Amino acid sequence: MDNFAEEMARLNDSQREAVEHNTGPLLIVAGAGTGKTRVLVNRLLYLVKERQVDPNQVLILTFGEKAANELSERADQALPLGQSSDWIRTFHGLGRALLNRHGADIGLSPHAKQVEDTAIWILLKRNIELFNFKYYKQLGQSHKHLADLQKHFSRLKDENISAEDYKKFASAQVESAKGLDEEIEVERVVELAEAYQVYNKILLDNSCLDYGDLLCYSIKLLKERPNILAAWRKQFKYIMVDEFQDTNRAQYELVKLLAGEEANLAVVGDDDQAIYKFRGASLSNIMQFKADYPQAKTVVMIDNYRSGQNILDAAYRFISHNNPDRLEIKENIDKRLVAHLPEAGTITAWDFPDSLAEASAVATEIVALHKSGEMDWKDMAVLFRSHAAADRFVKEFSRLNIPYQYLAHGGLYYRPIVLQLINYLRLLDNYHESMALYKSLSSPSFIMEHLDVLELSRVAREHQWSLFEALKHVVHEPTSKISAGGLVSAGNLLAMIEKHTVIAKEKAISVLIANIVNDIFYPHLDRDRDWPQFRLLGQIYAKAVTLEESIADARLKDFVELIDSELEAGDSGRMPVIIDDADTVKLVTVHSAKGLEYKYVFMADLVDRRFPSNDRGDKIPLPEGLGTESVGNSEHHLQEERRLFYVGMTRAAKGLYLTSYRDSGGKLAKKPSKFIPEIGGIVTTSFDFDTTGTPLDRAIERLDEPALITPPIPLPTKFSYSALETYNHCPLQFKFRHLLKLPIEKKGLTGFGDMMHKILEEFLTPLLPSGEELSEEALSEERFLRVYEKYWTSAGYETKQEAQEHYQLGKKYGRRFLEVMKAKGRPKLLGLEVGFEFALGEWTIYSKVDRVDELPDGTLRLIDYKTGEPMEKPIYDKIKQLLLYKIGVEKKYGRPVSSLVYYQFKAEDEWLEFAPNPKEVIKLEEEMLATIKEIQKGNFAHKPGFLCRYCDFRNACEFAQN
Ligand code: SF4
Repeated sequence: MDNFAEEMARLNDSQREAVEHNTGPLLIVAGAGTGKTRVLVNRLLYLVKERQVDPNQVLILTFGEKAANELSERADQALPLGQSSDWIRTFHGLGRALLNRHGADIGLSPHAKQVEDTAIWILLKRNIELFNFKYYKQLGQSHKHLADLQKHFSRLKDENISAEDYKKFASAQVESAKGLDEEIEVERVVELAEAYQVYNKILLDNSCLDYGDLLCYSIKLLKERPNILAAWRKQFKYIMVDEFQDTNRAQYELVKLLAGEEANLAVVGDDDQAIYKFRGASLSNIMQFKADYPQAKTVVMIDNYRSGQNILDAAYRFISHNNPDRLEIKENIDKRLVAHLPEAGTITAWDFPDSLAEASAVATEIVALHKSGEMDWKDMAVLFRSHAAADRFVKEFSRLNIPYQYLAHGGLYYRPIVLQLINYLRLLDNYHESMALYKSLSSPSFIMEHLDVLELSRVAREHQWSLFEALKHVVHEPTSKISAGGLVSAGNLLAMIEKHTVIAKEKAISVLIANIVNDIFYPHLDRDRDWPQFRLLGQIYAKAVTLEESIADARLKDFVELIDSELEAGDSGRMPVIIDDADTVKLVTVHSAKGLEYKYVFMADLVDRRFPSNDRGDKIPLPEGLGTESVGNSEHHLQEERRLFYVGMTRAAKGLYLTSYRDSGGKLAKKPSKFIPEIGGIVTTSFDFDTTGTPLDRAIERLDEPALITPPIPLPTKFSYSALETYNHCPLQFKFRHLLKLPIEKKGLTGFGDMMHKILEEFLTPLLPSGEELSEEALSEERFLRVYEKYWTSAGYETKQEAQEHYQLGKKYGRRFLEVMKAKGRPKLLGLEVGFEFALGEWTIYSKVDRVDELPDGTLRLIDYKTGEPMEKPIYDKIKQLLLYKIGVEKKYGRPVSSLVYYQFKAEDEWLEFAPNPKEVIKLEEEMLATIKEIQKGNFAHKPGFLCRYCDFRNACEFAQN
């Protein structure tokens, strides 16, 4: 049996039915743990192998880059050698591809680029006077509410509601309004409709697209240009959509357009796991699918490979409280999951006197389970509804030396080290913000005794000064009451403020943050112990970099105000959840736990008003009747919370613990979550108040207990070539860059290289095989310059002059590139920025090659662009990267690579072409394996040398050599 036959033989009946579905619409109702990803990959494989469909004629849409990458990886491994799937995308990735190619067909500027919410916030702030608010007067007066307005516009785009639609809706309301109440509501709606129009104009005037635009303009394009729609329908013979229950209306509309009459559309989802209404997802999509496609076949997958039957039965009893608003009732199907695990699984419910006792008992139980020898730490997770509950578990885990990892999509701004950084930024933005100065005095670099702080406050009060003025005064004219240590701290802080103020005036925010982190935080962090802190600081730095990519002249004030406005709007700071295989207990919010599974799950903090949470809704809701689903409906909110609880329950394989408590320090005793009795059939064990002492007693008992421990730093299993090279240069540098991910100041030249790559990618895109006739204009200098202007940015250069020199240099390089291309003849392009992965031993190597050409004899040529120093002839040590590309590309396309080219912008003869030497390829593989083995040993010793001079981390490194 070949691999494909083996895979097919492993499928159960319903999985096979979904995989082998012929043509026409298909609804796959895939319960938790029933193997939906396997079905998606195998269906792709089946279409390719059995129906001879080109994998690039199958569009698979997923949520989030991570899911798309994982699916793509699995598909590439499963597909026959030489075939790969380039159309496994996120919805936004698909929109980006459509608009990049056809944006001009609906009048979008060729310079239009998608920008992050943060950049849009700044655009709105700068154009606030263009809005005319009366009802929402505070929106026009303070930019603090702009994030709420942005959220409102984002919801409209989720629903594919245009400014014209909104205006029409508002006009109809004006005509029908009766009575004062309705008139005021209409005034609100009219104002918002006008604001939406202004918002879209601001975006277009600045050549910006928000996330929603990627979908809304794509829909507009396909509706208004039937020729383009026809071409894409021809391209995508089959469409699959993952997590269909989480699609919004715009996403579904786009899919329906592409699927057309033939509707070879397979959607996979589970209405009971729809938990993203707050992000605009519309449960009605999955509920309506059969109404939209009455001919659709339904396959229900209920064979569960994750949890014991007891757990599945309990989850089913619980979610049935959402009846009749469930697919099971609506479609008259049976969704009861059937376990394939031999153990039935256990459910334990505990109610504690207080929250500290809860955390303590959970931590003790985790230690006991681990000691039983049956469980690794990573087999267990504590789930909570809101990240606020995590802290007491962190403390208990530290007390008992339990290695843990905290995973949450939100809460970045409340992590203590981030809070310190934000406060310091606030202080630089406004010296007189005394609270920010006070918080800065608690950072390890300037820590000041309480008595000294009191003295500072006294001086400030006496003179009616801000704390900053008092600080300055005390440094220059010390009072007798300030200690010597306090004086040193005050002097250090003042010196830092002065230094960083200069940087803030002259340089980009990311440069400022890199300097602050370097000066204030690194000296107090241990690179072996504090890697989670490094990562958190890196998140703030990354946010600044992203902002600068869209708004090159963004300044400190913008950044600080942006964070404050996000906090104001209830956004605690998003951060990517990095899930690795480290042997740690995971502390994770239920939202972030979606798609994960653990042998033992503790659902904690299950008290009234925490889970289910209170319905906060949008601050500026869509008017009733405008969206697909009414907002602010408390029953809908409760159902969504129930689904979230259900998702939490179904993460557990062997054991599920549900824990609650009565006292959390407030005036009123807490009640256990009303969801616990809804499960039915479980008995809660209550722990007595008297036996455990008061929370204060226990807190005091723990004062002298050991300090926090840190989980082992996770080592990667996937490597890029440059990561391995970094390790070879200096293992410590590898640790700084690839494990701790420290923020670094991006040098202008690096940015220049990245920019040239992006420009050439877009410029050469028309040469890719698409079946469309290529116009003369497509490869002209004029078009090159247009693309150049689109990507040019002066951010990252030290001086204006340096920026100007690079601006001219880039144009010169472009003109030469066109000349060389003309002299060599128009290439037959197979791919641009082609990503690949291949296995090396038990590890994975990944990379991306700039360009793949097909040569007349059918072999391939790889081209790498280089803006750095050129080489004269190919020497093994300098061509290793291209040799690696050869291995990856041959595995990807199943065709030999016969030619390698370095296109060196700086060289007199830019085109350096040579044939790969097979012996060198083998040598490279051996070297890479040896390097990876060293990394796995955890050897990150410093290796100083002349390269220290160019090392981005020299300031954080005590071994740096001059
Ligand atoms: S400064 Fe030198 S020794 Fe330190 S990390 Fe960088 S390269 Fe390694």
